Amino acid sequence: MIELANVTKVYRKGRVEVPALRGVDLRIAEGEHVALMGPSGAGKSTLLYLMGLMEEPTTGRVTLFGEDVTNLSDTARSRLRGRTIGFVFQAFNLIPQLVAWQNVALPLRYQGVPRRQQKERALAMLERVGLADRSEHYPAELSGGEEQRVAIARALVIEPRLILADEPTGNLDTRTGRAVLGLLESAVADGPTLLIVTHDQEVAARAGRVVRVVDGQVLDGSPSGPPK
Ligand code: ADP
Ligand code: ADP
Repeated sequence: MIELANVTKVYRKGRVEVPALRGVDLRIAEGEHVALMGPSGAGKSTLLYLMGLMEEPTTGRVTLFGEDVTNLSDTARSRLRGRTIGFVFQAFNLIPQLVAWQNVALPLRYQGVPRRQQKERALAMLERVGLADRSEHYPAELSGGEEQRVAIARALVIEPRLILADEPTGNLDTRTGRAVLGLLESAVADGPTLLIVTHDQEVAARAGRVVRVVDGQVLDGSPSGPPK
């Protein structure tokens, strides 16, 4: 279970305070496939970053896989993140100086997996996303769809319990986006929880559940939907 209880988040820019989340209650069961939708600036990415242990709440509690992670030390936070969470971003975020398999192997490098195993596991993962023949290519030599497939392989290589995707099809044309999404869906069919921020109705329609975020609040945060 992933749970946010009465969570607020206020960003500080110098003397200016920007409230991003105002009292969010959200529960997601393990294995759920959730689409987060809502207007720009509503707080969707902030929610994702809180669940991904990239940000801490200003007030409230965050529980991940049954563990209270609200007050974890930075070290414990990055350890837990590195072992359990895969990220996919709109802008792919691959390292330009590394070839495809090296990008995929990066999370394993941080985990201290032996070099030989890093390469084997990265290549196996590239094969799974249909890019076995691109393993020695640099990101600049790949198409957008291929880059996102490399990013998906990188997110999956640690066998995460949770995958967080921030508009993963936002930089792709419709057809490529669909293929990339299909790949992500088949990858999560056997277990990990998937949270996907999207503006795309079609993406949302394929999710098991849609959660709407408006002006820093979640409208339907419990798995059974809002009370009648
Ligand atoms: P964020 O605030 O998370 O950075 P943006 O507002 O920049 O998101 O939007 C990301 C992409 O989604 C852009 O390509 C934008 O044109 C598109 N977009 C934004 N709002 C909508 C919407 N309501 N419906 C469809 N597409 C949208
Ligand atoms: P969304 O993903 O729905 O577009 P965000 O979570 O990105 O929304 O942003 C929510 C609010 O918090 C917005 O007003 C945004 O400008 C603000 N915000 C997001 N990140 C930061 C930041 N690092 N510093 C200051 N304000 C931020």
